[in-house]
Amino acid sequence: MSSKILEPGEIESAAMTPPFVQMPPADLFAQRATRFDSLSVGHPMSAYLSLLASISRAQQSVLDAPPSLPELNATHLSAALEHDMPPLAVDTLLHNSGWQTQLDAWLEAFTKQNESLPDAVQAALQQLRQADAEQRRTWATALLGGRFSEVPEALVPFLGAALQLAWRHWLKAIDVETIREREDQTECPCCGSLPVAGVIHQRRPMDGVRYLVCSLCATEWHYVRLKCSHCRSTRELDYLHFDDSPHGIKAEACPDCRTYLKQLYLEIASDGEAVTADLASLDLDIRLAEQDWQRRTPNLLLAPGSEGSEGSEEK
Ligand SMILES: [Zn+2]
Ligand SMILES: [Zn+2]
Repeated sequence: MSSKILEPGEIESAAMTPPFVQMPPADLFAQRATRFDSLSVGHPMSAYLSLLASISRAQQSVLDAPPSLPELNATHLSAALEHDMPPLAVDTLLHNSGWQTQLDAWLEAFTKQNESLPDAVQAALQQLRQADAEQRRTWATALLGGRFSEVPEALVPFLGAALQLAWRHWLKAIDVETIREREDQTECPCCGSLPVAGVIHQRRPMDGVRYLVCSLCATEWHYVRLKCSHCRSTRELDYLHFDDSPHGIKAEACPDCRTYLKQLYLEIASDGEAVTADLASLDLDIRLAEQDWQRRTPNLLLAPGSEGSEGSEEK
């Protein structure tokens, strides 16, 4: 058995190469819960962010102690990886009953952890509980397919949370080393979903490197900076933000396709996290919509009509 001996410089550069894919941490949802809690203090949408913290806490409880689920088909997983296809493809796994079992487990955990819930929330939970498997799949297919108007608005954050949980759980079966690096990967290499946002890291070896964060399974994958991750234009992208740029968020806006993707700058908000920063900066989305910029990526915890407030025209 022989192995190549690396010179000190080579060792350093190998250690300094940012990985193509990064798996989310095991306590992802607990981290989000903590972040939602701290962002909710003094925030105009404080009650909404606190509800999201509770949703995240229940996600973590079920992720830590999952219900018993059928194993994923290992042959399918490796065949997909071999052909550079996402191993946890949404179209395929929506037909796997595992996510519905996770939804039931999440509903139970969330209800147990939150004794007094507003009537509207209780009604939404009850609707999800009572829906049959076919109806749930229809809603989930619409939600993950970006057809938000086909899902009852009140159900979105809860259904979205259960789907995130299910895919984050399935992600445990994926070996990060088996995912081949590809340039211009605009969809998640693990599940094929769109990113919720980008993150500009600040710690080595990813210092200054941009990763896109999956809206569903939370995998991060490398995507070059200064390039639109929708139409791939590199022409004068704009970085729009409020002057004090709260939550470390700027919107990378592309003049060619008129869409934007939010970017989280960890050098501004070192304890920031993509999903939570996105939901704490919806004021930026409202401003950008007024200027005819189109948001292109979903946040599965966001009711598409409005965020619990009445009268929003947002779609
Ligand atoms: Zn994904
Ligand atoms: Zn573009």
